[in-house]
Amino acid sequence: MRPSQKTRAGQGRPLAVLPGSFDPITNGHLDIIARSLSVFDEVVVAILVNLEKSPLFTVEERVAIIRELYKGEPRVRIDTFSGLLVHYAEAIGAQVIVRGLRAISDFEYEFKMALMNRRLSPDVETVFMMPAEGYSYVSSRLVKEVFQLGGTVSELVPPMVERRLRDKYGSERPAPPPARPARRLSRKRR
Ligand code: ADP
Repeated sequence: MRPSQKTRAGQGRPLAVLPGSFDPITNGHLDIIARSLSVFDEVVVAILVNLEKSPLFTVEERVAIIRELYKGEPRVRIDTFSGLLVHYAEAIGAQVIVRGLRAISDFEYEFKMALMNRRLSPDVETVFMMPAEGYSYVSSRLVKEVFQLGGTVSELVPPMVERRLRDKYGSERPAPPPARPARRLSRKRR
């Protein structure tokens, strides 16, 4: 942040915004939110309203899920936005955009976006955070695909999200295969 840049009145640390689709929120997102709270006073989780995409959860459902998850945490605000992210950040007085970086594959897109946003609004800084290793491959899209095909996602999303996924996919989801007895490791016979 530039030395001349103002922070919120009477506070030393800037307001951060974490934009995304959150369709649905995963443990990877929660990890990034927790890390953001260790650096910033307040984090606005901002759900992008994208009329071109057809999400699994409506914007209202996504807001309700995240609100429920953070109901005891006044430092996490939930909001929605459309249009340019930097305009939204300026409108709410956020000086920092937080983005999660999972792998090299995220980097190229994120790098271009950060530079474009800087060009559009030089006073808004983008900060990248890396999740715990165990979440570095988790995406909302993958969670939905795995769940829909009968896989388990209980370690990847909060229990409430898993319940909501079950409500959404209901009977169209194949039953998981019956549990197989654990195989003992034995030497191959010749
Ligand atoms: P996704 O890419 O899973 O659809 P979003 O568009 O909701 O996610 O992403 C919102 C923000 O959260 C982005 O900065 C994205 O990089 C980050 N993010 C999503 N999943 C993870 C994860 N597993 N670890 C770290 N950051 C993540």
